Amino acid sequence: MSEKFCIFCGKEPKNKNLEHVIPQWLIKMTGREKEDVFSLYPDAEKHIPFMRFTFPACTECNSKYSKMEALVKPVLERVMSGQSVTGSDISLLMDWFDKVRVGLWLTNMYFDPKLKQDVQPNFYIDSRVGKVDRMLSVQKLDLSGGKGIYMGGTSTPLFQYSPTAFTMLINDFYFFSASRHSMVMPRTGFPSLVNVKVVNPETGLFESSIAKGRNKITNPVIQSFIPNKDSVTFYQPIYGGIQNYIVDDYVLEHTYDKTKGQGGIFVQKGNTGNTKYLQPDDKIGIRLHACKKYDLEQDAVRFQNQIHERSLTNSIDTRIGFAINNMLLKQMELQK
Ligand SMILES: [Zn+2]
Repeated sequence: MSEKFCIFCGKEPKNKNLEHVIPQWLIKMTGREKEDVFSLYPDAEKHIPFMRFTFPACTECNSKYSKMEALVKPVLERVMSGQSVTGSDISLLMDWFDKVRVGLWLTNMYFDPKLKQDVQPNFYIDSRVGKVDRMLSVQKLDLSGGKGIYMGGTSTPLFQYSPTAFTMLINDFYFFSASRHSMVMPRTGFPSLVNVKVVNPETGLFESSIAKGRNKITNPVIQSFIPNKDSVTFYQPIYGGIQNYIVDDYVLEHTYDKTKGQGGIFVQKGNTGNTKYLQPDDKIGIRLHACKKYDLEQDAVRFQNQIHERSLTNSIDTRIGFAINNMLLKQMELQK
């Protein structure tokens, strides 16, 4: 293991304890208490039971996030049992997917210290959750009540440099989670970044101007990503850090938390447009037809590439990751 860092704040862990990146309630809910995290990967060099898949954290950071875990569990259960949830519930669920996605990215660096040197992460869980535009797409699968938990795309070359997107199977529910700067803002009607100039190609640091928003929804919300026809997809624009430049009436009418710069939730059922705004208390029922076709890893690689292609701020490393991801995708398609 590499030098210890708290996976929430990135600093040396204060009063160190251990964080389950896949929470214990989820391990129990999916019947994985006795299983190996890497059992899906026949070539895996590491073997760790889910219950011991833990990483260093400060006690204080960890307890802040265990409150979030307690709140999100009933939301996920409602989603998976077809009960209704509110816009605020979905925003919380998206926070949680941010946490898991960034957490899994950082665990790669614990297993491979060289990777941490190469990547030099410039955010950790606490500096990323709820800070950047995001989307979550949900499908139900025809698995006749099968149990389990699997992650797709968390060790691809592109994900290692830029943890923008992954897929996750929780029992018979299939989730696509993604987050990227300016991924959702323009086509949910918010102001957008224009004239983007990458000032540091190594890190992807950029400068840009801000253009007035269209003040209306344009479908598809993410140009390169068309959701499955039997899915429900949520989009959330987040403009923290640039509040002073972009707040207009439309933005305010579509915002859950002005101080944090968190826009509200936009929801799309199926894939034929029809994206609507949800007020924080508006309820939505998630009843889905089960899909038969899915491929956890291939879907994740394709999804990462789609998000990358529209990204304004790619660094050299993510471009290389994208090229290798493309080769992987071609191989996967040939093997079919
Ligand atoms: Zn910490």
